[in-house]
This record gives sequence, structure tokens and C-alpha cells, in this order.
Amino acid sequence: MIEQTPIKIKWRRLQIILERLCKRKVDITLTTHSFTSTSPDEVSMSACVYNKRSANFLLNAYEIKSLFMVQNALAHETAHILLKHKVYPGKHDEDFNKKWKEVLAIIKKEYKQYQQKQIKEAV
Ligand SMILES: [Zn+2]
Repeated sequence: MIEQTPIKIKWRRLQIILERLCKRKVDITLTTHSFTSTSPDEVSMSACVYNKRSANFLLNAYEIKSLFMVQNALAHETAHILLKHKVYPGKHDEDFNKKWKEVLAIIKKEYKQYQQKQIKEAV
């Protein structure tokens, strides 16, 4: 029997974290749709469609293969939302990078806290 260890990703937890950060309803969609990118040799990992009430985070299933990549892509799109970027693909300047890092740290921290809480409950 071939056993594979799947990547365990707590999607619901990520959704809760994003809903709190973005202050709106959030969906996360894993898709094989290829997003258009700003440069032809740059593969787009993710995109986000949003308005004031809801946001749909689209993750490129071909490219995103680990928990870190999921968190990083979600943080990237969240930074666009929090900076109220309207035009696709959005500005990737210094302010953006700072916000991206900040949001990633929050997502990683809150996700980890959730895992630790679960371990405690299981003991
Ligand atoms: Zn972007």
C-alpha cells in the first residue's frame, strides 16, 4: 500500500483569520485557472476578487504546494485589500511589501496558535 502524507491545511481557520483581517465574508478557491500575470515569465500564484462585503481568494493549484505558500499568497492578496487597491494587478511598491510582511506574520501567528490550542485539547 502506498501511503502519502497529505499537506494538512486548516482551510476553515485560514478563512476565519482572513474574515477578521478583511472585515468581510471570505471564500478561498483553489483553481487550475491560469491567471494573467504582469510579465510573461512570471507565474501568478494568486488573485483576489473583492468588494466591500466579500472577498474571494483564488489560489493557483498548479503552483501552490505548501502551507507556507498558501499563507504567503493569502497575505499578498489581503495586503491589496487592506491598501484598497482597485486596479489589477495592484501596486507592488515598498508600502505594499511592508503590509504583505505584516499580514503574513499575523496569519502565521494566528494559525500556529490555533494548532497549539488543538494539540492541548487533544491531550
Ligand atoms: Zn499583487
